[in-house]
Amino acid sequence: MAHEISPLNVEALRAEFPILHQQVHGKPLVYLDSAASAQKPLAVINAQADYLRNHHANVHRGVHTLSQRATDAFEHARRQVQSFLNAREVEEIIWTQGTTDGINLVAQTWGRTHLHAGDRILISRMEHHANIVPWQLLAAERGLHLDVAEIHEDGSLNWDSVQDGLNRSPKLVAMTYVSNTLGTVNDASRLVKAAHNIGARVLIDGAQAAPHKRVDVAALDCDFFVFSGHKTYGPTGIGVLYGKREVLEDMPPWRGGGEMIAEVSLERGTTFAPIPFKFEAGTPHISGAIALGTALDWMQGVGVESIAAHEEALAAATHEALSTIPGMRFIGTAPGKAGVVSFVVEGTHPYDLGSLLDAQGVAVRTGQHCTQPLVDHFGIPGTVRASFAAYNTFEEVATLHRAVERAITLLK
Ligand code: PLP
Repeated sequence: MAHEISPLNVEALRAEFPILHQQVHGKPLVYLDSAASAQKPLAVINAQADYLRNHHANVHRGVHTLSQRATDAFEHARRQVQSFLNAREVEEIIWTQGTTDGINLVAQTWGRTHLHAGDRILISRMEHHANIVPWQLLAAERGLHLDVAEIHEDGSLNWDSVQDGLNRSPKLVAMTYVSNTLGTVNDASRLVKAAHNIGARVLIDGAQAAPHKRVDVAALDCDFFVFSGHKTYGPTGIGVLYGKREVLEDMPPWRGGGEMIAEVSLERGTTFAPIPFKFEAGTPHISGAIALGTALDWMQGVGVESIAAHEEALAAATHEALSTIPGMRFIGTAPGKAGVVSFVVEGTHPYDLGSLLDAQGVAVRTGQHCTQPLVDHFGIPGTVRASFAAYNTFEEVATLHRAVERAITLLK
């Protein structure tokens, strides 16, 4: 829609983020680590504070007014997530602690029910550890095989390798939509179609997609989609697992406890609540869920496509500026990549560069970014990663450029 790709008023947006207006080591903060965690607008901070100050009680448990208010706000947030993801039904939205928690939930429930000795799971070389280790744990326990689709040198997915993996008839394909290290945006829709053609279920790791892309799980037709609140301008400790109703209903619960039961009897055993509550044992992160709902509304109000276009322009400007630096090597140059720029500079270590950037007020991520198999593949110790959000500016790109040049002078 035309209004959504209008340019952002970044100065006005920045005024909504109190944390950005501070100095670090005597320099104005330049926050370029939003792929690790995004900063929070006042709307989100206020939503969480307002809930805690005025409405808090436990949810789904009380007849008293505060409990009903808390429950209404909590369930309203679930509908906000449903609308953000375009899920068909609100029951398909399950609160988790984040992406990692969501993937572990799928591994421990769907995985332990449907995967048996000799079965295969297909992942890719560019996965975050969160989408590798839960499958390795399950594979070790169950005798499963984990196949890996490889990438091209520019960091794009190698579809021949994906096809090779699919030819081995995996029961599950679990892949990232957007790579946190490379910025590569995978064709999730093509992946889902290809996997469904061979009867596999598909989990999409949406941790880096939800903050930067319009996501439509109904159109994607994926079986599972996971993301984290803290990367979408919301709080930490809250995230979402989307699952198709029929898939979720066919899964046993994972954690047991209050809230997830229909009836508990010491004589007759326990029956479980319907989805989504079956997967939500214990008191949830109520204020986090409510503030996440606000964060997603905030993103939609700003315009998800506008945010993405702005971030991509910042990443392109960063590539252009840094490419003049001798010894610069970009890791991840796939066409159509998201707002992430990863690089190494010959003769310097990413950690040293990162520390010298911090001394100049520039916050970047250094290291393996929880993608060690990917970083090993490139034969490097790690990268320096600048990642962008709605609130970053072209002046900050210029500051990053100057700071990298200065750091290199100091290191050489
Ligand atoms: N998957 C991807 C692609 C990520 O970028 C991240 C976090 O960086 C995760 C999974 C894990 O997210 P969380 O630590 O919020 O569970």
